[in-house]
Amino acid sequence: MRQEKVGHVTLVGGTHGNEYTGIYLLDKYRKQSGGLGNYNFDVDLYEANLRAFEANRRYLDRDLNRSFKLADLDNEQLEGYENRRAREINQALGPKGDSKTDMIIDLHTSTAPMGVNLVLTKTDTFHLMLVDYVQQRMDNVNVTLEEMPDHHFLMSIAPRHVLVEVGAVAQGQLRQDVFDKTDMAVRLILDFIEQYNQHKLPQPSESIDIFKYFDFAYLPLDETGDIAGMVHKNIQDRDFTLLRNGEPIFKLLNGDNVEHEGEDCYISFVNEAAYYDEKKAFAMSRKKVFHIG
Ligand SMILES: [Zn+2]
Repeated sequence: MRQEKVGHVTLVGGTHGNEYTGIYLLDKYRKQSGGLGNYNFDVDLYEANLRAFEANRRYLDRDLNRSFKLADLDNEQLEGYENRRAREINQALGPKGDSKTDMIIDLHTSTAPMGVNLVLTKTDTFHLMLVDYVQQRMDNVNVTLEEMPDHHFLMSIAPRHVLVEVGAVAQGQLRQDVFDKTDMAVRLILDFIEQYNQHKLPQPSESIDIFKYFDFAYLPLDETGDIAGMVHKNIQDRDFTLLRNGEPIFKLLNGDNVEHEGEDCYISFVNEAAYYDEKKAFAMSRKKVFHIG
């Protein structure tokens, strides 16, 4: 494992403007005396998209959390609020590839009851030990992996990063259970960094199961592109369970069922409200075992 210390952590909230939990958790940390407690590294609190928050929308012009590919950041011609904002954030926290901050923790919520979903983009020993540390100390934690070259997530500005996604909570809503779980996950991640820096980490698990995304299923559409059905109740609220070939996944408005045709897979973000703009119905992943260290 790389032994360089993590000197500077940025905790980001409101990357999506209608996911209130992260925004108000940053508020809480600012208002509490003692804030987040004492760590031997710096923790900055950073609101990513306050204009979308004020509008109670996920984004204004473009999903900010898909706007951090180097090619996009380097393209001054790209217009729209989020493209400009991504360049500002890259100036403030980055630049990507040579960033001022060593690690970004990006706070999100889901309308699906997925518990705590820790999203990784890489599986080196540091990141595997981090998610294992949290999973060993908290109930209902799942780890997912979304790999791509030159990642589009905000957190990819920093070399170390994790996205904390907690649900279910509606858009534009605060729920104490979701808020508290997010708070606990953040504190565990910071505790992990503290112990990592001091070489005092406990022995990790031998291995960890990670759900690796490979595709999305899309809502059924009619010939005009309008929604022609809905997620079948058979899979509603079944995040991180196995979907088998032949199970019903959609109920069409004409009453017919649509069945899953393809490999058995684990489903998540089932009927996620934020994905209706792209007509996505759920994410599909394969469970893989990763050996730690
Ligand atoms: Zn989000």
